[in-house]
Parts: sequence; structure tokens; C-alpha cells
Amino acid sequence: MPAALRSDLLVVAGRRQSARDGATTEVLAPATGEPFARVARAGPEDVELALAAADAAFDDGRGPWPSTSATVRGRVLGRVAELLRERAEDLAELEAWGAGHPIGDARWEVEAAARTFEYYAGAANKHLGTTIPIMDPGLAVTLREPVGVCALIVPWNFPLLIASWKVAPALACGNPIVLKPASLTPLTALALGDLLVEAGVPEGAVHVLSGPGSVLGDLLVGDPRVAKVGFTGETATGAHILRQGSDTITRTSLELGGKSAALVFADADVEQAAAATPMSVFANAGQDCCARSRILVERPAYDAFVDAFARATEALVVGEPLDEATEVGPMISAGQRQTSLDYLAIGAEEGTRLVCGGEVPERPGFYLSPAVLADASNTMRVSREEIFGPVAAVIPFDDEDEAVRVANDSDYGLSGSLWTGSSTRAIRVARRLRTGSLSVNSHSSVRVETPFGGMRRSGLGRELGLSAMDTYSEVRTVFFAEE
Ligand code: NAD
Repeated sequence: MPAALRSDLLVVAGRRQSARDGATTEVLAPATGEPFARVARAGPEDVELALAAADAAFDDGRGPWPSTSATVRGRVLGRVAELLRERAEDLAELEAWGAGHPIGDARWEVEAAARTFEYYAGAANKHLGTTIPIMDPGLAVTLREPVGVCALIVPWNFPLLIASWKVAPALACGNPIVLKPASLTPLTALALGDLLVEAGVPEGAVHVLSGPGSVLGDLLVGDPRVAKVGFTGETATGAHILRQGSDTITRTSLELGGKSAALVFADADVEQAAAATPMSVFANAGQDCCARSRILVERPAYDAFVDAFARATEALVVGEPLDEATEVGPMISAGQRQTSLDYLAIGAEEGTRLVCGGEVPERPGFYLSPAVLADASNTMRVSREEIFGPVAAVIPFDDEDEAVRVANDSDYGLSGSLWTGSSTRAIRVARRLRTGSLSVNSHSSVRVETPFGGMRRSGLGRELGLSAMDTYSEVRTVFFAEE
């Protein structure tokens, strides 16, 4: 564990500062359950300082960052990517301690954050306006302009990566940002704030406020100086944010919960699907919005799949984040683990069959071994509610129509997978599934180049790809009369 790590300063106006009232809070290491860092806890005065500075830095689009040319903004973001790579090992260790990620996953996360900055470095000067043929004499053009101060509120499951998905496109478009990490995992977000300033983002355009979402969120969302909220978190919090920002018509994009289905047809390579499935649901101890937590298997392949899936799950190495062999680390908190244990009890009452896992090992920290619940049905709570832990429900189905109906019968619609050996079935079923993302014969979910987001209660708007540039900018139409 890093000795006496302290990070008791916020990033306000690009500078490290204590909270105005001096408040700090402890951060626990999920691997030990013990405090390992102390960070500043922002309050109302800090929010006021940050918003005043960010508003001045925007200055109706005339401030230093929005008026920096898009090419130079891109260069600065490219430098952020370089700095992330230079500090990759330190940041990965910080994420491993703070979020409990296995070190290999944490390294991947830092590299994925660097790639995100690299992508938007390239996108900054390629986000184009248009000229539009019109009937009237004159010239009509559209301009792409920054939207204004962006409040970016992120969860604890991929702290650095999800922050980068919002910060990079928001800055590429010329907006000042106020980043609000989750209270449980503020450290890599604060470190990112330092890197942004070091790379050359003007001080007034960078603020990182750690502290309780219920207080800071309500102060940020609905403040008239905040033009745009980019949020990732629970569906209930997203609904609250929409209500908070309704009077000010605050632009809002929401990346929310999921209960994603993997469909395994009997004509698929069932062994391959079963071998790939454990990490599609148990990576990051199941705390992944895209986790394939409902696994639908066609009846002729059902027994073989459950058997192979359980064997592959039992072979996963559950262990300490800094151990290179670890594939599944601890959960984020005792409370989050208890929620999963509660759902295991609910699954037992509902009549599912626990095939493996669900054990709390005798060691400190918030560990829970990955659990497979077989013989579930889609009406059970374990199949309908987001558990956000290492619990998978396996559901048998009889034919294609039933598989599609069950997969779509969910409040959520974020991600999904489809395993089949038939290309015609792949096309047919892919078109009918109502999810923001879908992978065929693969469990991958997210790529920086492609839009990402949910249908139904999984969210509003799309992140990543060039879609994110649209959500962090306004389109303006200007008409030049010719006579
Ligand atoms: P959460 O909603 O509890 O918290 C997310 C963030 O919102 C935190 O920074 C929190 O402090 C803040 N917050 C809390 N109350 C707020 C309020 N009243 N106003 C404004 N902000 C507030 O979510 P969590 O537990 O940190 O994250 C897990 C959830 O996030 C899961 O539901 C998961 O599916 C979802 N998630 C979705 C995606 C996606 O891309 N769709 C990605 C990761 C996580």
C-alpha cells in the first residue's frame, strides 16, 4: 500500500487548493478495507469558486480556451495522452489501490484513457460546419461552437477512463470543465486535473471537485452557468439530474445502468462462447455497466454451456489487485458486496440453481467469488434488476423469437452479445435487438472510435466516436444576405 498517500487538495482554477472549509475525507482501499488516502471534500464555496472561474474562462465563447484554435487544442490533448503514458505505471497502481482493479486491467485502463485523448486530439480540428443550399439569395452556413461550462459527473467503476470519455471531447470542443469524481475514487481524477494543466489547458478551464454527489451534484446541475451535464452513474441518479436541470433546460447526456444479455444459439461455437463469457460479466468484479449479466442459451446447448461456463468461472484467479496473476479483484465497498449477497439470497428464493461462487473468502477487503445462477427466468428479480456485482443469471430459451423477446424485455438497453454460426441469423437477430451496442461472436463493448450509449433507461445521448463532439457543442446557423 502506498505510504501515507495524501491528496488533500482539489483542483480549482487549475491550482491545487484545500477545500475552503478545510474538510477532508478518507478513501478506503477495496483490497484491505482500510483507509489508504485522505482527500479534500469540496463544499458549496468550492463549487462557487470553480463555477465563477469556469464561467469567466468561457466568457461567452471569447475566453482563452474556446478562442484557442482547434488545431492547438488538439495539440494540447495530444500532450495529455503523452503524459498519461509517461505516468502510466503510477496511475495504474493508484487505480489498483483506489478502485480495486487488477493491475493488468488498470494498465489497460490508463492506456485506453491515453487513446481517448489521442482520438479527440485528432478530432478537434475535424469537427466541421456545413454550407447549406437554400432557396433565398444568400449563403447559409452552420458553425460548430463550444456549448459552455461542462459539469462532468462520473462513477467509481472505471474512474480514470470514464472521466477521459467526457473530459477529452468536452475540451476538444473548447469548453471549460468541472469534473466531479465519485467520492469513493477521486485520486486518478485529481491526478488527471494536474496533467491537463501541465499539458497546457488554461487554468480557469480545469476544475476537479471531489466530494459527495448529493451536495455537489445539486449545486452544479441547474446552475445557470453550467451549460451541459455529462453524467455516468445509476439510472435513479440520472433521472434526478434530468429533473434538476429541467428549469434551466440544461443539455444533458446520461450513461446509466444496464442488464445486458448475451444470446448463445446452439449453432454457435459453444465452447468458445463459454470460455469468453466469464470476463464479459465478472471483469471488474461485475461492476461494469456493460456486464452480460443475463446469459440466454438455446436449450440443446444449455447443459454443455452451463458446465463449461462454470468451469471457466471457477478457474478465474480472484486475488489482490497488485498481484500480476489476478483476474478478478475485490468489489469497491462492503455495501456493494452486500447488495450482491442479498441478490444471491433472492436468487435462491426465486428458485435459481447456484452452480459456483458466491463465497466471501476469509481475508480482509471486499472480495466475493464470481457466482453463476443457472435455471433463471426473465421474470425473476435477478434477471431484471442491475446487481452491479459478480452475479450472472443463465436463462434457457427454445427459439429465435423467444430469445429476441426475452433479450428486449428489460428496462435497460445498453449492450449485448450474440453468438451464432449462422450469418443470416446474425443479421436478423442483430437488427431486432434493442441495445445501444451489440457484438456478434465477441463480448467486446466499447471502442473509442464508435458511439456508445443506451436505449430505454440505460441512457440518453451517445458518448465516444464523433458523436461525443456533437454532444459537447452547439450548431449555429448563420445566413448572409446576398442582396
Ligand atoms: P451513482 O449514480 O451513485 O454515482 C455516480 C456519480 O454521481 C458519482 O460521482 C456521485 O457522487 C454522483 N451523484 C450522486 N448523487 C448525485 C446527485 N444527486 N446529483 C448529481 N450527482 C450525483 O453511480 P455509481 O454507484 O457511482 O456507479 C454505478 C452505476 O453507474 C451503475 O448503475 C452502472 O451501470 C452505471 N454506469 C453506467 C455506465 C454507462 O456508460 N452506461 C458506465 C459505468 C457505470
